[in-house]
Amino acid sequence: MTSLRLLHSWIRANDPGPIALLDPEAPELVDGKAVTGVRLSGPLAEVPRHEILESLNLGATIIYLHGDTGPLHELTTMLEGIGITRLRHGHPEVKPRQIFSSDDVPHSRRDLFGIAGNMAELPDETLLGEERERLALNLLMEKEGIPVSALADAPSHGLNLQTTGCTACGVCVKACPVDALELSYLEIGPDRRISTLSMFDAACVGCRKCIDLCPEDAFTVRGNTSWETRLGEPVKRPLETIPTVQCEKCKTYFPMSQGGTLCQTCKATRDNPFGIRWPEGVPKPPGFKY
Ligand code: SF4
Ligand code: SF4
Repeated sequence: MTSLRLLHSWIRANDPGPIALLDPEAPELVDGKAVTGVRLSGPLAEVPRHEILESLNLGATIIYLHGDTGPLHELTTMLEGIGITRLRHGHPEVKPRQIFSSDDVPHSRRDLFGIAGNMAELPDETLLGEERERLALNLLMEKEGIPVSALADAPSHGLNLQTTGCTACGVCVKACPVDALELSYLEIGPDRRISTLSMFDAACVGCRKCIDLCPEDAFTVRGNTSWETRLGEPVKRPLETIPTVQCEKCKTYFPMSQGGTLCQTCKATRDNPFGIRWPEGVPKPPGFKY
């Protein structure tokens, strides 16, 4: 993946004004405006969206994309749709007065002495790309004075999830990398409680781990959430409420709808104490239960 990581501190230290990101395969530039050009080490189309937005926040006044923009085209269109025209497809009149490689960024004195040209914070490299995109887009909207409601129709990478048949096992809650899912409990008796699986739509980064790991295939995707939702206040949305009862053996809670006093695991162990299971996909002999 092509990265602008080294470019970020250069932008912050130098306040370069407009810059042009040049795809290695892009056609030659012709005479025109003088801007700083950055020859990318890989395809322009692979530059992560969050790094583009971060570059705008760090001090690039305009970014020209010169070459095949691939999925970045959607970002340009989305920003243009809300009146932000600082990300543009490279036009043939850009002639860089200075070109350097994205892998070999020149150091200025201000860079070397750590004296930034502006006080913008460098991105937190430990966060997921989708989370960095959310933070960077939020900051850009703030700087441009545009309300998040302007993005009500713009789909984000977040997923609009529903569930049916959840057993409140908690696997998805543990798997979610951004704590977008939560199980809460209301005790209604010594061994009974109502379990509720809820979701914070604003947090979801669309990684699909919850969907892939759910043992009950309980999730359904109803499209993507909007960027307005992603950038808005976190609101807890209940997905499913499950009356549960405590297993008398292992003490975990399981859905009352399954009946009995043992959870599925303890029931299977009781019924089949030697733990023999027929291999998956092989036809079972008559009368073999497991
Ligand atoms: S949705 Fe699936 S993984 Fe999540 S708690 Fe319910 S059953 Fe478990
Ligand atoms: S898709 Fe990923 S981020 Fe979204 S709720 Fe599921 S695990 Fe969490």
